[in-house]
Amino acid sequence: VGGLQPSLLVSEDKQKLPAGNQTVTASSSWSTLGAGVYRTEEGKPWILPVVKEAVKLLSADPAVNFEYVPMLGLEAFTTAATRLLLGADSPALRDGRAFGVQGIAGTGSLRIAADFLATVVPNLTKVAYISRPGWDNHRLLFTRAGFTEIREYRYWHAAECALDIAGMLEDLGGAPERSVVIFHACAHNPTGVDPTHDQWREILKVVKQRSLFPVFDVAYQGFASGDPDIDAWPVRLFVSEGVELLACQSFAKNFGLYNQRLGNIVIVTANPETVHPIRSQLAIIIRGTFTSPPAYGAQIVARILSDPQLTVQWKADLNTMSTRLMEMRQQLRTRLETKNTPGSWRHLTEQRGMFAFTGLNERQCEYLKTQWHIALLKSGRISLSGLSMQNVERVSQAFYDAVT
Ligand code: PMP
Repeated sequence: VGGLQPSLLVSEDKQKLPAGNQTVTASSSWSTLGAGVYRTEEGKPWILPVVKEAVKLLSADPAVNFEYVPMLGLEAFTTAATRLLLGADSPALRDGRAFGVQGIAGTGSLRIAADFLATVVPNLTKVAYISRPGWDNHRLLFTRAGFTEIREYRYWHAAECALDIAGMLEDLGGAPERSVVIFHACAHNPTGVDPTHDQWREILKVVKQRSLFPVFDVAYQGFASGDPDIDAWPVRLFVSEGVELLACQSFAKNFGLYNQRLGNIVIVTANPETVHPIRSQLAIIIRGTFTSPPAYGAQIVARILSDPQLTVQWKADLNTMSTRLMEMRQQLRTRLETKNTPGSWRHLTEQRGMFAFTGLNERQCEYLKTQWHIALLKSGRISLSGLSMQNVERVSQAFYDAVT
């Protein structure tokens, strides 16, 4: 009796993307506040001038070719990226117990990190904690890497439009020991709310008490404050307190290199002797995933970060982006307040980064979509980069209309 050939018939359910925060498709007459990408005042994508400069230098460099990059990445890039996150004077770097491995943007770096924690590190649970609300993809990435339970910790206090620090500490305090917990290092997506330094110290205390293993998602270093050192503070705090951790950096937003898919996984271990075996295990995971990462974005960032003058220029470009986003926060808040729009809008300027969590409910978001052709996520998240001096007045009118 011949066996049947396996069929690729899969049920829709198994393939469905997580429900929720998909962006609404909008026609050109719409104000699109949904997409998490930087746009200029004219609504255009922006190539950072410093990136243009690095590209020019690379194309004139006879040493640049299309050979494979080593399995663990372009060393000039991983070293510079790791230093960018931990700080050049990091005790972990000084002790030789921190290093970086190139990943495929933030997403692919998180997946490698999750694989490593689920299959290599022996003493962890298969429970991973993500923030509620948060970035949907964390659930998918950690589930597909082998975590059997994804739990949420409270993050947003809807009534106060602020961080629910008590809820967060309580949820993490009740976590099984040696669970994995994912933190957004800065510019939390979607709320734009980051813990204060004191709150991070409280979170760190719980992480230590419950022996949790932190994974920092660093998708927006430099976008929150405009200064990459300031934005790296929580990671550096944990490292200075001797905590072992992983951190996954994306270079999509802060270098505007979205489609280069450039990322770096930073590993900080307690013991330098574990570096070699960890590198070997990561090499096996990467070999079984993509073998060798793409080069061009890594060459661009390595070039910028290894040249003091280009680094200064990069920080200025970063500042251009974060300043525009901050200005849009202020413009929206001022216009809402001038109209005496019911409620407090202070949170708009207290939040940081690409997104504002407006506090608008699902019904109001639906109203903005149908009545005003304003596309935003139904969670009430807007991307500040979709605002400009051309549309902010109209958007504020629409918000007024939606809440009154
Ligand atoms: N983490 C968070 C919180 C994000 O918002 C994003 C981008 N939307 C990423 C990770 C991943 O970005 P990328 O894969 O493009 O680097």
